[in-house]
Amino acid sequence: MLEDVLRQIGQRERFVLTSHARPDGDAVGSALACCQVLRAMGKQADVVLHDGVPRIYRSLPYADEVVQSNRILGSYEAAIILECDSIHRTRLEGLENRFLISIDHHSSGRPFAHVNWIDPHAVATAEMVFRLAREAGVSFSREIATCLYTALMTDTGSFMFQGTNENTFALARELVLAGADPAHCARGIYFAHSVAKIRLLGEALRNLNIDGHIGYVWVTQKQMERCNAIEEDCEGLVNYVLSIGGVEVAVFFRELPDNRFRVSLRSKGKLDVAQIAETFGGGGHECASGCSVDGPLADAVREVLLQIRRGPSVQ
Ligand code: 5GP
Repeated sequence: MLEDVLRQIGQRERFVLTSHARPDGDAVGSALACCQVLRAMGKQADVVLHDGVPRIYRSLPYADEVVQSNRILGSYEAAIILECDSIHRTRLEGLENRFLISIDHHSSGRPFAHVNWIDPHAVATAEMVFRLAREAGVSFSREIATCLYTALMTDTGSFMFQGTNENTFALARELVLAGADPAHCARGIYFAHSVAKIRLLGEALRNLNIDGHIGYVWVTQKQMERCNAIEEDCEGLVNYVLSIGGVEVAVFFRELPDNRFRVSLRSKGKLDVAQIAETFGGGGHECASGCSVDGPLADAVREVLLQIRRGPSVQ
């Protein structure tokens, strides 16, 4: 599969790279790193993201070159879609008639592109970009290493999530040797929250509910407005719920303008939340997934909790 990706890259010159809307650290870091890898291979490459780069990732190398747009324009010979299991999740127009390469590590990943390299065993898409670069003979600059390290650090929950293993640390070691500064990368992410995000956390925790092994919180549009918070301020709030002893599954509900709710699910490992998200048309990983469900809030909570209680355990 990696060989297919490299062969297709070798036959082309101009690439556009993208990922899912509301990009997280792995989406941004992998896309930025992959773009630099392609350039090091002598290719022309640009990154386009529907929502641009969230504030906490803006200090990453080349983040300022990312184009925020609703559509892909230009004579690119191929689009590389990273960390994303469909054209739809990019929320970009103009991909349909292009040659598509998918590089993804989601367990719910689907082969939607012309070339699909999906490896659910990779802890982050960044690990796959690392393998691609190494196979292509690209040397790891400090900038590539910083983007990949940040992606790895965020997608493994600072090397704490299920799936983190000796290979993760070996990869982190390689990236640090190549110039990534762990403290600097962590400072930019974990010690750089907006005041709005912390105020929103307060609102969310006021709505904390514990139901057996399930913990959940929600935030409404009004609360978001009151805190002056934006969508990206919600990232990671669910982890505070998961940090509670006895909670096996944590859920975060965010009210959307159309009486629907964005749902983030996290598991400590006993329950597979990817399958729960998939029953609502979403997806993700065993321990971190997301989906959207219909409101009102009470219905959304009831439906999601019902699926969790019925849900599959990890073997
Ligand atoms: P988050 O809760 O941070 O939005 O997402 C957690 C994980 O689930 C991420 O890996 C993300 O890509 C995936 N995910 C979130 N929402 C969706 C969705 O609607 N569809 C799919 N396929 N994956 C999702």
